[in-house]
Amino acid sequence: MPLLTDEDLLARLLAFDTTSHKSNLALIDFVASYVERTGVVIERSASEDGVKANLLCRVGSPRDDRSGLTLCGHTDVVPALEEGWKSDPFTLRESDGQWFGRGSCDMKGFIALAIQRFAKLSATTSLVETLRAPLALLLTYDEEVGSLGVQRLASDPAHEQLPRSMIIGEPTELRAIRMHKGHLRLQVETEGKSAHSGYPDRGSSAIEPAAEIVCALAKLRRQLVEERVASSPHFPRVPYTAMNIATIRGGSAVNVIPDACSIELGVRLLPGVDATEVTERIREAICGAVGESGWTLLHGNVSPPLEVATDAPIHVGLCNHLGVDTAGSTDFSSDGGTLANLGFDCLLYGPGSIEVAHRPNEFLPRSEFERAGAVVDQLLQDFCF
Ligand SMILES: [Zn+2]
Repeated sequence: MPLLTDEDLLARLLAFDTTSHKSNLALIDFVASYVERTGVVIERSASEDGVKANLLCRVGSPRDDRSGLTLCGHTDVVPALEEGWKSDPFTLRESDGQWFGRGSCDMKGFIALAIQRFAKLSATTSLVETLRAPLALLLTYDEEVGSLGVQRLASDPAHEQLPRSMIIGEPTELRAIRMHKGHLRLQVETEGKSAHSGYPDRGSSAIEPAAEIVCALAKLRRQLVEERVASSPHFPRVPYTAMNIATIRGGSAVNVIPDACSIELGVRLLPGVDATEVTERIREAICGAVGESGWTLLHGNVSPPLEVATDAPIHVGLCNHLGVDTAGSTDFSSDGGTLANLGFDCLLYGPGSIEVAHRPNEFLPRSEFERAGAVVDQLLQDFCF
């Protein structure tokens, strides 16, 4: 396939409705055919139901030390159902140097930039021959719903062929980010015995122990607010483990004793805070309130926090090109925590602002797209040539 202009490529990517609950295969197939050339290795890592896939593309032979550079982005977008869109969210619109559309900044703009670098390099035989280390492209699915795509990679050895140094092009307004929080999701279910409320001796309410559990968890939440860890100073706005008692559901009618109640919890984990330890404290708090029986703690999805070492080559390299001493932190999470657990050194760096992502008329400033592309070109020189 001949190379498209940046704008045309972004328009093509945007036109695929890859809202997280839909398939991303059409987009993945398009990208695979766009970058397919002699010497390019293309692999797919599909979801269990086969409806979605991660795409792994590589040019240049893998090195034992896993040197080289991986450019990574998620292909899914959040639903474009907000009121206030001034144009079709899946048709790229250009106005005053901004590109508008769902996913323009989060994060198909960066994906377009990465695909163009990959395609241009792999199309030039003389360049491929001078590669010292490989360039790879990793496109993931279901980032927006808990990094399910990259979790799938854990069971697929294909990722071990990708270079360790990675840029994830989340919209950071061109700031380098090496730290973000993780998210732990849990559910508590209490059991009761259903009965007509006129015969209370025949039943027991599931809501009463749930209420005691909520009070105990609220106490634990207040304790956590007072605690600090080594990474706290990097998160001045919320420097503690933040727990949210998010939902509670139970009961069916005012004259029925409820037999079940469930509580959902979300916990924002600072880098260095272990999900297992927090879960254990939650379990202890529940035991202290209602004893050991009559309830179950269910584990949901965990998005681990991200913290990349300051001496990682990608950190040194990117900071050098940006003229900063160290990368920063952010309050949103990404695929980076899971990828770090798989052995990648990931920094977040990309054009556009998270402030406009997930909102109507999401946009990407073209100037930031160009600037990010120039920085990625410099990293390519450092890591691959
Ligand atoms: Zn994103």
